[in-house]
Amino acid sequence: MRTIGKITEREQIIKKSSNKSLYCKKCGKEVIVDSETVEVICPICATKMAPPAQYLLKSAEDRQKEKEEQAKYPKGWRLFKFFVLPDGKVYERGIEKPELKGTMEPTDVDAIRKERKAKRKTTRQKNMEEDARIQKLAQKHKKAKLEKEKAKHKKEKQIDKLVGEK
Ligand SMILES: [Zn+2]
Repeated sequence: MRTIGKITEREQIIKKSSNKSLYCKKCGKEVIVDSETVEVICPICATKMAPPAQYLLKSAEDRQKEKEEQAKYPKGWRLFKFFVLPDGKVYERGIEKPELKGTMEPTDVDAIRKERKAKRKTTRQKNMEEDARIQKLAQKHKKAKLEKEKAKHKKEKQIDKLVGEK
């Protein structure tokens, strides 16, 4: 007979078949257990006892809190070499570094926002200026073309006149 560790297959079968039933400590429901179990709590009571509901609730709350925290930070803050919260928490490229807490000045979020706003404005201004420049250029080009046409026309007229005089 093949042996599994020290227990023979036969012994395993005996062990398996020697399951017994115990009554749930909480509700008294009969639960099948193995022979070595001395007391049992049924799965229903075990679920009721475990604190997963509270755990999930807390984590959802934490997630919400995190979301709110994120909204306070400027976009792309995780890419910052260092980002320091008002409470001194330091993030290095978006990863909290507890060992650096309180070692740096908090990041001036308002200044970043202002700077970005100004930059956006400048970009818009630049675009507008560029548009105006292109328009002006187009008009100049149009005018030049017109002048050229006029000159050509004048020349043709002159030629016609000269030819006519011959
Ligand atoms: Zn129970």
